[in-house]
Amino acid sequence: MFKKILVANRGEIALRIIRTCKEMGIKTVAVYSTADRDSLHVKFADEAVCIGPPASKDSYLNISRIISAAEITNADAIHPGYGFLSENAKFSRICQEYKIKFIGASPEMIEGMGDKSNAKMTMRLAGVSVVPGSDGLITDIEQAKITAKETGYPVIIKATAGGGGRGMRIIWKEEELLPNFESATKEAEAAFGNGAMYMEKYIEEPRHIEIQIVGDQFGKACHLSERDCSVQRRHQKLVEETPSPFMTDELRERMGNAAIKAALAVKYEGVGTVEFLVDKYRNFYFMEMNTRIQVEHPITEEVINYDLVREQILVAAGNPISGKNYYPQMHAIECRINAEDPFNNFRPSPGKIGNLFTPGGHGIRVDSHIYSGYVIPPNYDSMVAKLITVAQTREEAIAKMHRALSEYVIEGVKTTIPFHLRLMQNEQFKKGDYTTKFMETFDLSE
Ligand code: ADP
Repeated sequence: MFKKILVANRGEIALRIIRTCKEMGIKTVAVYSTADRDSLHVKFADEAVCIGPPASKDSYLNISRIISAAEITNADAIHPGYGFLSENAKFSRICQEYKIKFIGASPEMIEGMGDKSNAKMTMRLAGVSVVPGSDGLITDIEQAKITAKETGYPVIIKATAGGGGRGMRIIWKEEELLPNFESATKEAEAAFGNGAMYMEKYIEEPRHIEIQIVGDQFGKACHLSERDCSVQRRHQKLVEETPSPFMTDELRERMGNAAIKAALAVKYEGVGTVEFLVDKYRNFYFMEMNTRIQVEHPITEEVINYDLVREQILVAAGNPISGKNYYPQMHAIECRINAEDPFNNFRPSPGKIGNLFTPGGHGIRVDSHIYSGYVIPPNYDSMVAKLITVAQTREEAIAKMHRALSEYVIEGVKTTIPFHLRLMQNEQFKKGDYTTKFMETFDLSE
């Protein structure tokens, strides 16, 4: 087992990883930018190393500084969390070269799966159904026109290096193709340093349902059921739940098997997520595979009573998995609490936290790094907490969430708590009748 793990991340996920390491008797090293000097992950870790100024590229994305921090502290593994370097093939490769275990996917796997167009090709060959669209990349507008006609409008063009909903455009007719192709390419170049695009049929009113998987180096893979992440704004997740209200035992079996097939096809090691779009007829299509721990992993942990970070560490250390699939025994919901103003177009609201009261009680879990007096830096993601409830039924989990949200006090900044409170009372949401289009018609003033 590892003796010391460096956590190459910040915020709630850094804390989340440090907590499991402590329980496993593994020492931890935090890295931090000057903006995070007073962060809890710095206080909770056994050691902490400052790796640079606030800008991510100079700190949390700076490979040489992170490797140096691992070297001087004698860390034998690095956990990258999510975002930042978690799906960076170069980082994974450099860790290998320095004989530091990267708790994540191999460089080859990240290259294969991180490139979304490539990943789709691999899955198609493995016999997993994918969203219809281009065979690989679209290189020019003429090819885009032909492919769109063949696929049938509406189509969606997506950045092959994309993430977080960026570099994506929905096209309803041919006239819209050229301007969107150009602007999406530019956006992707700026955000990911890679403007390459591919095209898919735009599935109307789908659900985003993903399957959690775990694989080991002995060629075994299993699934841990689904998470429904259809409540999204601008292709970004706001609320997740498991089981999905749309799920049937039969669909879970089919999607679980497809996800395992996907994992085995690439000899997947570690925890990962296979994302699918599901249409109203319960046809499902592979969208992408995330080779890391996801933000929404706690809901799976709660319904199957399983520590996914612990599992990640065990698998990375060479332990075999049991190989059996896990099915939800409870119902769990996660609300992402962001420092954003829901009444002002979700505008970021960084600043200093005043009074803070965190909800508690039966069935409540809060994964958060904030405290009274904490200053939310403007440089990073606006998520400040994940509020998770778990109960016997969906109805109870929603009632619990409403109760917890109404207890939550975060003064000093605007948060998305008022949005979530309204969502928990929305009739359509309560019926479980929502798709990725839901937020477009959701009325906050309700
Ligand atoms: P990212 O990696 O940027 O998050 P994804 O490929 O996971 O991008 O897609 C994000 C969201 O965009 C999906 O959850 C879904 O709501 C929407 N989306 C993506 N592809 C399609 C498609 N072909 N049809 C309809 N919606 C799509």
